Amino acid sequence: MEFDPSEDQAAFRDVVRKFARTELAPGYLERAKSESFPWAEHRAIAGLGVLGMLAGPERNPQGVEDYVAAGLVVEELAYADFNLANAVIPVFLMTSLIARHAGPDLREQWLEPLVTGQAYVALGLTEPDAGSDVTAIRTTATVDGDDYVIRGEKTSVTMLAHSDAILLVANTVRDGTSVGVSTFLVPLDLPDIGKAPIADTGWLPMGRGVLHLDGVRVPASALVGAEGAAFRSVLGGFDFTRPLLALTGIGCAQASVDETAEYLRSRRAFGAPLSRFEGASFVLAEHATQLEAARLLCYSTLWRRSVGKPHTALAAMTKWYGPQEASKAVHDCLLLHGNFGYSAEFPFEQRMRDVLAVEIADGTAQIQKIIIARELFGPDFVPYDRSRR
Ligand SMILES: Cc1cc2nc3c(=O)[nH]c(=O)nc-3n(C[C@H](O)[C@H](O)[C@H](O)COP(=O)(O)OP(=O)(O)OC[C@H]3O[C@@H](n4cnc5c(N)ncnc54)[C@H](O)[C@@H]3O)c2cc1C
Repeated sequence: MEFDPSEDQAAFRDVVRKFARTELAPGYLERAKSESFPWAEHRAIAGLGVLGMLAGPERNPQGVEDYVAAGLVVEELAYADFNLANAVIPVFLMTSLIARHAGPDLREQWLEPLVTGQAYVALGLTEPDAGSDVTAIRTTATVDGDDYVIRGEKTSVTMLAHSDAILLVANTVRDGTSVGVSTFLVPLDLPDIGKAPIADTGWLPMGRGVLHLDGVRVPASALVGAEGAAFRSVLGGFDFTRPLLALTGIGCAQASVDETAEYLRSRRAFGAPLSRFEGASFVLAEHATQLEAARLLCYSTLWRRSVGKPHTALAAMTKWYGPQEASKAVHDCLLLHGNFGYSAEFPFEQRMRDVLAVEIADGTAQIQKIIIARELFGPDFVPYDRSRR
């Protein structure tokens, strides 16, 4: 077994680390409290070659599709700015799905702008009555001549406020009969589209919103992948976005732990620096341990994806364990800063609200545990029988 990154991976990580800690970290708090999306910083990240990493060989500066390197990048970005790191992950998902499953027109139109940070494509899966149970979605795409006409509502769409298009899933109806759930790339400037913002507790630059589609007409070329094949392509992508989301929590929590270690060294109580008291230092030691365990789980999952080994259960493990541990670590770091930690001038309360997002997005802990049980122990461990519903 080899646990160190390769020379190339480490070199790219170091470039991103230097950029993130000098250029991004100082402005995190101010950006995190604003609803504007930091396009300049996102494009600067694009300028490092990050956004093309999973966009196919022509646009990938690394040459090879390396999910471990993608993990190293998002962890480094999240150490400095959790939200900017999370804005990278949908780009990875979209470029990967478009490069693999879209036709030449869509590839030509969207890949380059996504990779250079000039455009953004959101993901529309969740609906008001269908989140964890994605198979319950009600949005329809009805075939009408050479077009599809889409009706329905998507909610909780990250970056909706700032996106140019959305990749959404819809039940596809042909000649009055459902032919399964398909994926469509829908520009957001089409007629019959309505958007409304969601007032969030954190994740503010990420412009989450609700999308109404009231008979939106798209050509057949908007279809991404085969009709009825949406769940295989989009949900397969979650097997790499889950460890990446977990790593954003881990990066953000690691920054909190490192800052708190510095603070304990300098803050004195009862005649000594707080770092001398095990009641304080053991809290950091325990979080450092758990973050390292979560991190190893993420990188082993990403490595398995890179080499084509099964990793669905591991991906689900990273997604409940990593964000949960990250949230706990940030919470304890806030407490170890005493009254200062509670102040909005320190980053901890902001990070707590931001990190909560990855406990829910891409599936909650309960849903990950259902996936783990199903993958490891078989269908008897799925907690419902769909045929009886
Ligand atoms: C910050 C953020 C960003 C997001 N971004 C996007 C996005 O870009 N695109 C998108 O499509 N969606 C997005 N989502 C939506 C997210 O994927 C859903 O919120 C998530 O899958 C849960 O669905 P739900 O909110 O409908 O909760 P529900 O499915 O209604 O679940 C409610 C609660 O019940 C629990 N629960 C549900 N079923 C079970 C079960 N069988 N056993 C035990 N417990 C269960 C859940 O764990 C949860 O705690 C985002 C969410 C957040 C918070």
